[in-house]
Amino acid sequence: MKGRIAEVFDSVQGEGLYLGEKQLFVRFYGCNLQCKFCDTKLLSFLEYEPEELLAELKLYHDRYHSVSFTGGEPLLQKNFLKEIASLTRKNGFINYLETNGTLPDELEEIIDYLDIIAMDLKLPSSTGLAGYWSEHRKFLDIASQKEVFLKAVVTQSTQEADIKDALKLIKGMKKLTVLILQPDSSQNQATLKEKLMHFKELCLNYNVTTCIIPQVHKIARIK
Ligand code: SF4
Repeated sequence: MKGRIAEVFDSVQGEGLYLGEKQLFVRFYGCNLQCKFCDTKLLSFLEYEPEELLAELKLYHDRYHSVSFTGGEPLLQKNFLKEIASLTRKNGFINYLETNGTLPDELEEIIDYLDIIAMDLKLPSSTGLAGYWSEHRKFLDIASQKEVFLKAVVTQSTQEADIKDALKLIKGMKKLTVLILQPDSSQNQATLKEKLMHFKELCLNYNVTTCIIPQVHKIARIK
């Protein structure tokens, strides 16, 4: 079985709760969504057998916090992801999944091989797409077996009603989690600030722990 991989590289995590941790990144090719703010260009891929990908990861000799399976959407290639995550775990790596949280059935099949799940909440007013609330709910039910935190991209078009729906979803989760509000890095940060502060206040009213964390790798200009 071969996986379609857009790139393999080492760097520092630039988003979310593990900001600043050194990771090996495996970027899966292909996504099931087309978010308005997407900045991930997936133009080509190489095909790997799971063992070939593991061998490439083992060429990196530094010490890493974890392997980040990112995309695109890694769960679109769930069979390959299961194989490689099983191999990385056997070789002592922590498995970290970055996902759009819309494929719960696929997550269920591989949850045993994951350690940390960084899930995007796809707010319709940010993405320009339909809402994925029922998929997100089912996804989080499964993801709650492991460490999980949430990220929501905030743009000029993000509506308060979507943040409230997200907070209701979080309050219904089996365990406490943190919501990262991530300003869209392509937009003017000064004009987003007021909106972010308002949403943070809203989160406090719902007793949901929230951090405003920008995409630091873009500010620092590292990959
Ligand atoms: S889910 Fe992620 S990779 Fe896919 S379109 Fe949205 S932002 Fe881009």
